Amino acid sequence: MRTAGWTPHDYGAVTLLRAADGGAYPNGNSLLIRGSAGTLLVDPALAVADSAPRLAVDAVFVSHAHEDHLVALDTFAAPVHVHEADLSAVRDIDVLLAGYGLPAPAAEEFGGRLVDEFRVRSRPDAVGVADGHRFDLGDRTVSVVHLPGHTAGHSGLLVEPDGFFYVADIDLSSFGPFYGDVGSSLAGFERSIETCAGIEARWYGTFHHKGVIEGAEEFRARLRAYRAVMERRDAALADFLAEPRTLAEVVDRRFVYRPHVDGPYVETVEARTAEQHIARLVRLGAVAEVEPGRFRAVAR
Ligand SMILES: [Zn+2]
Repeated sequence: MRTAGWTPHDYGAVTLLRAADGGAYPNGNSLLIRGSAGTLLVDPALAVADSAPRLAVDAVFVSHAHEDHLVALDTFAAPVHVHEADLSAVRDIDVLLAGYGLPAPAAEEFGGRLVDEFRVRSRPDAVGVADGHRFDLGDRTVSVVHLPGHTAGHSGLLVEPDGFFYVADIDLSSFGPFYGDVGSSLAGFERSIETCAGIEARWYGTFHHKGVIEGAEEFRARLRAYRAVMERRDAALADFLAEPRTLAEVVDRRFVYRPHVDGPYVETVEARTAEQHIARLVRLGAVAEVEPGRFRAVAR
């Protein structure tokens, strides 16, 4: 897939490589962070992989192991870093593919797309980093902030002294939080949203089409709207469970994707998302398993 390139937008020492299409999936907006002693490229997207001449960078950081953040890593002659919880998926494309939890025929098709469309390759040399790891770029420091939930290792970056906080795929979109992979966690995602709300910065950058938001107040308002999507999923699910339903019925009804969305991932993502919401509603006493595999909202 060829994209129409990107344009640079500067926020202190951080340059957002804004994709010409705005950065909606499968594309995204990468970051280039230039310090006096080094340059860090964050989340190489399709738009950046296509650009020529190739960007000169000293190191690459990947916010998490998803295909749209791992494009053509081999074309950058620089070490690749990722949070240790996503390290095995960056090191081995088969581990990455297994993480989507797709059924066999769909997994084979998507595995082909990883290689052909996203140019993902196994990077056995990738380096794992932990929460709080600091990249020292001389006059800039870049700290890793572990924000699990979307994936187990999903992490943001805080660039100082500029005050730029990159939140990656806590993308503030109207679609809402995505926690439908094998290693995803609804509860983890909620805690990570809380972590984000507590971080003071001047700018907040997302990987996809929302781009950069200025000011903590505006960011927190958008974060609340984003989190409210999870609450709406809970409420819609509880409504649907006015009658006893199986997980298969919940999956057919769809609480994540709109009916027109078609893809090999839809059913598995709907199922993993619904399972986590049902488990939470059961824990809260709002839903009960009335017979094995059948759930109903508890009358209040
Ligand atoms: Zn992602």
